[in-house]
Amino acid sequence: MKLDILAFGAHPDDIEISIGGMLISEVRQGKRVGMVDLTRGEMGTRGTPEIRDEEARIAAEIMGVAVRENLGFDDGLFEINAANTFKVIDVIRRYQPDIVITNAPYDRHPDHGRAASLVAEACFLSGLFKMQAPGVNTAAWRPRSVYQYMQFVQHTPDFIYDISDVIEEKIACIKAHKSQFWDPESIEPETLIASKHFFTNLASRASEYGIQAGFAYGEPLSTIRYPGVKSLDALW
Ligand SMILES: [Zn+2]
Repeated sequence: MKLDILAFGAHPDDIEISIGGMLISEVRQGKRVGMVDLTRGEMGTRGTPEIRDEEARIAAEIMGVAVRENLGFDDGLFEINAANTFKVIDVIRRYQPDIVITNAPYDRHPDHGRAASLVAEACFLSGLFKMQAPGVNTAAWRPRSVYQYMQFVQHTPDFIYDISDVIEEKIACIKAHKSQFWDPESIEPETLIASKHFFTNLASRASEYGIQAGFAYGEPLSTIRYPGVKSLDALW
């Protein structure tokens, strides 16, 4: 199955927090979208891998994506090595996405920056037809574009994606990760994202970036190479 867009996240809620709105909007525009989580988030303070698998499944259903996979890398400790790179290459070659979107190049959680480098490197290497390993899809494929999203640490974005029409749906897909966010009934330790104020903070950031591009709410993204346009209508 060929996909138009493939989004990667180091942990099962990274994609929803950062670009949940964009993916929902792209699905609504008829794009075939897939999601790949590198780890099951087993080192997370709250929840268990089994609970998080189920939450990720529900979130993917809300978003309407065609496929969601988990590569089962070690949460907190996965490395950029040949074995992990080939696992990412295999997924890229299997789904042949035109666009890949991944974590921020630098962030509060060290896995995020590593995931960003690993996925960007794999996107390039996947295009080399001599890059082969046992069990790995052999057909070379290089995505046209790789974008990186913003999650916690702020950095200067290259463009803003309008999520004004899907902000409620974005919040719903994040809340599908029930174990990770504010729940007055929960007896698990509070974390930064499980704070009572998290969704207020999230909406504030979406509003802050959105307004810069003339939108009510937006998601900021960075590019690896200069983005090109074939029509000025492509720019807002
Ligand atoms: Zn994360």
